[in-house]
Amino acid sequence: LGPTVTIGEILVEIVATTPGNGFAEPQPLYGPYPSGAPAIFIDQCGRMGGAAAMIGAVGADDFGRLNLDRLRRDGVDVSAVAVVPDLPTGSAFVRYRADGGRDFVFNMWTSAAGRIGWTPEAEALIARAGHLHVMGTLLGHRQVWEMIARAAPALKARGGTVSLDPNLRPELASDGDLRARLDRIVALSDLILPSGEELYIAAGLDPAIGESAALHRLFNAGVREIALKRGAAGSSALLADGTRHDAAAFAVTETDPTGAGDCFGGAYVACRRLGMAPAMALTYANAAGARNVTVRGPMEGAGTRDELDRFIAETGRRA
Ligand code: ADP
Repeated sequence: LGPTVTIGEILVEIVATTPGNGFAEPQPLYGPYPSGAPAIFIDQCGRMGGAAAMIGAVGADDFGRLNLDRLRRDGVDVSAVAVVPDLPTGSAFVRYRADGGRDFVFNMWTSAAGRIGWTPEAEALIARAGHLHVMGTLLGHRQVWEMIARAAPALKARGGTVSLDPNLRPELASDGDLRARLDRIVALSDLILPSGEELYIAAGLDPAIGESAALHRLFNAGVREIALKRGAAGSSALLADGTRHDAAAFAVTETDPTGAGDCFGGAYVACRRLGMAPAMALTYANAAGARNVTVRGPMEGAGTRDELDRFIAETGRRA
């Protein structure tokens, strides 16, 4: 079966060294770090040893090279990442607030990322892909949505699989009916990886209805597996046959929460596609998320299988 493929933004992230409110004053910064939710996901997938490839666009600049070098080093096929000559690579400036919230300044769709579209390389990659991972952040972007809406049914029709991270970000949505798009992609998804309340957003139900009703709705829509992320409370894998696995989180000190969910997802999808059972995939995914939050930078803590094996052996679980 062909590689796991994702479509979306590749950015650099530049992080404030101190918490506070936004960027309306000069301040010291860390970075640039390779970033973009789909890039973090696919990088962790590649590090885990799964065949991985990405469709995206960067500028012909150092920020683009930083990302391409990282993805290549970690085993990701970047043949379908376009290098756009006349726009810079996307960027995100991030500053954490004292309450754990985040302020962003994005240069995303006005950057090279705004040129993501069908190229001969992207067409060729989708034609041989075995799995497509869809980022909820991108359902509001018309061009990328149109690619997803064509690629996902094509993969399914030839026996491929689809996963969805329903991390909708209204501030990044520029176009379209998110609800209708979400329902369409849920109906095409084999695996969904929601974080907290995203379970209910994906199901289109009020959280008051409770977890089992939301799961029921999603399984009825054709989803076969749900990997539920709960931050420092760990995660669960729920299967359409009624099987459930719960995994406690690893006890780590959080330095930078960005990228945990994407590393979790990249590891989970890679492990399942490598043939591991859900419980084992969950352990690796928990480890990938936890390891990544111990390091500053959105994908600096992504782990290889050996690194995650060592992390699992050496790290205690939360009570
Ligand atoms: P998202 O980034 O999508 O909101 P989470 O914050 O739930 O996702 O993180 C994904 C996974 O990463 C969690 O299910 C958990 O396994 C791990 N993780 C995240 N934060 C921590 C933490 N502070 N301590 C231990 N594990 C964590």
